Amino acid sequence: APVPLGSGVISLVNRLQDIFSRVGSQSAINLPQVAVVGSQSSGKSSVLEALVGRDFLPRGNEICTRRPLVLQLVRSSEPADEYGEFLHLPGKRFYDFSDIRREIQAETDREAGDNKGVSDRQIRLKIVSPNVLDMTLVDLPGITKVPVGDQPSDIEARIRTMIMSYIKEPSCLILAVTPANSDLANSDALQMAGVADPEGNRTIGVITKLDIMDRGTDARNLLQGKVIPLRLGYVGVVNRSQEDIQMNRSIKDALVAEEKFFRSRPVYSGLADSCGIPQLAKKLNQILAQHIKALLPGLRAHISTNLVTVAKEHASYGEITESKAGQGALLLNILSKYCEAFSSMVDGKNEEMSTS
Ligand code: GDP
Ligand code: MG
Repeated sequence: APVPLGSGVISLVNRLQDIFSRVGSQSAINLPQVAVVGSQSSGKSSVLEALVGRDFLPRGNEICTRRPLVLQLVRSSEPADEYGEFLHLPGKRFYDFSDIRREIQAETDREAGDNKGVSDRQIRLKIVSPNVLDMTLVDLPGITKVPVGDQPSDIEARIRTMIMSYIKEPSCLILAVTPANSDLANSDALQMAGVADPEGNRTIGVITKLDIMDRGTDARNLLQGKVIPLRLGYVGVVNRSQEDIQMNRSIKDALVAEEKFFRSRPVYSGLADSCGIPQLAKKLNQILAQHIKALLPGLRAHISTNLVTVAKEHASYGEITESKAGQGALLLNILSKYCEAFSSMVDGKNEEMSTS
């Protein structure tokens, strides 16, 4: 029987990630995704919100991202179909994005306390929208130097270890976010990316805050990779300033302003491929799809192994409870279907791997 592949390879991987994380398997982390890395206030959350086109991330001038937030963006073909759903609240659809923000905050506090503590337990959020391209992004706590609130004295080392546990995986793409108004050579993001990915095969540089660079300077050389070369290149973006946010400026307006920014500056003409949020979305989607295709054969083996693990677990559920056993059977069933789906992909039914 044919296996439904949804909207292609990225959605397949999304669903697999959900299964693995529900089974409590560490392998979730090994599946292809994009991790967003940078210092606190470098603009990570702004970039993520702009990619989604909605405001939904907790913000403030203090540490906001305190648990890894895995965001699965799923493109919908229905113009009115736009909602979020958390893995920890299955079946509950959030249509109001400020409710999503509140739930992220509440769920962060439940695990990491309400006094700036940090935890490495993921929050998983799926966002279905006509305005996104399929991709999986992970928002990670920003690198911070000085402990505040309930943070332990070794907070910097802990956050670095957490970030490294994601970006060290060869399957992880690294979105290294650096503000244009600071020195690229001092970038925490590029420094960590350089350790995790010394060949620079899976690091994409994102330069934020192009609008507030020192007068008389521009980011042309940075974007062209003439300062620190990256094989996958750089994308420069202009997001909303704190003032824009206080004035309730919408992301939509900000995207229009960004386009105008680049269009009105001759220094960025001829660099269209490396300017703007829409360009970043396109680039990410393409690279992620290519990356996943390259990893498919390895993934198939990986899924087979997991299938065995789940089967064993399932066998042991027998004695515990009915519902657990049912859950195990369900997972087993789903996993074996995915295994078949991957097999047919790897064996060359390429037309089913399109991401659109
Ligand atoms: P994060 O800590 O890395 O997630 O950073 P945020 O996205 O929360 O951004 C930190 C601050 O910088 C916020 O006040 C943003 O409004 C502001 N900001 C982010 N990107 C830009 C940008 O491109 N231009 C300007 N002017 N401000 C930005
Ligand atoms: Mg943030």
